[in-house]
Amino acid sequence: MNFAHAGAAPKAGRRRVEPGQIPILHPKPRGHPVSIGSLTSRHFTLHEQGDGIYAAIASDGGWAICNAGAVDLGDQVLVFDTFVNQHVAEEFKSMVTQLIRKPVGYVLNSHFHSDHVKGNQAFEGARIVATTKTLEVMAKSKTRYDTDPESVRKDVQEDLESRLAHPEDPDSLLFEGYDRGHLDGLPTLRYTLPEVTFDDRMTFHGSKRTAEAITYGGGHTVSDSLLYLPEERLAFMGDLLFVGCHPYIADGNPAELFRILDKVEALDAKVLVPGHGPVGSPEDLGENRGYVEELQRAVEESRRSGSGLEQALARPVGAPFENWKWHAFRRDNLEFLFSNPPTAG
Ligand SMILES: [Zn+2]
Repeated sequence: MNFAHAGAAPKAGRRRVEPGQIPILHPKPRGHPVSIGSLTSRHFTLHEQGDGIYAAIASDGGWAICNAGAVDLGDQVLVFDTFVNQHVAEEFKSMVTQLIRKPVGYVLNSHFHSDHVKGNQAFEGARIVATTKTLEVMAKSKTRYDTDPESVRKDVQEDLESRLAHPEDPDSLLFEGYDRGHLDGLPTLRYTLPEVTFDDRMTFHGSKRTAEAITYGGGHTVSDSLLYLPEERLAFMGDLLFVGCHPYIADGNPAELFRILDKVEALDAKVLVPGHGPVGSPEDLGENRGYVEELQRAVEESRRSGSGLEQALARPVGAPFENWKWHAFRRDNLEFLFSNPPTAG
């Protein structure tokens, strides 16, 4: 499988923190380099997006699986999403507090999916923020983790074994990392809930910059939020955007997702950090929409011809989607669309 898109080099002007390198992070007027040579992780790579703005992009096969972010507000740091594993979250916290040299004051959970929130406990002392609906769903998840952790462990173990049984599947390695990270965290997991909620928008007024947590409702899940930096025209998108990999839509609502993508376009952000995949741009919003529309056409044609899921799956996937990773989501997504036809009107 071609991973060219997912593994694309960072775009010009954004430096990548490579293991073993000692990059200059902040080219100050008098030229003081900031050494971060020891700050590397096998689970993610930090990409500087501006002064005190970092995107943590998950490494293939690592435990992070999703991306995260950190923003220097001036007197404290705002973290966006916390990975599936609290030890990876601790690593991230250690790195960003060494880079920014301020405490993490806030954590924003973009949505309830466990790969984005299970590292919350690493940020004890910070205020964890999410939408009201995201908190409600997380509270239900917490009940299962607290009362029946063994059933969670068994489910994840089964998932892992089924992946290991298919080493020929190029996605196996990617999801294996997710399962291993999940399993590693379970024995010491304290499923930690947000304690501050919002329903529309919450603005963080830092001494250095302003950051806005925004929700337009739910498209990827019942409730999704993003973090927008208006001065930098940059947004941490959570799973409202995937880059170079099949978006997962089976917990969402395509019509609502399209409506939300329109709203995001109107923000006119120039840099979009997706929930999964490398740092993207506004064009990726259109690609995500095009991907879902392609799925909808496949389902519609199958319905019209009286055929089913397998025929829709067999339909050729055109560029650029054919090279995207996480192809297994295509089946999940098509199953979801077959069982959830769009409502009239
Ligand atoms: Zn998600």
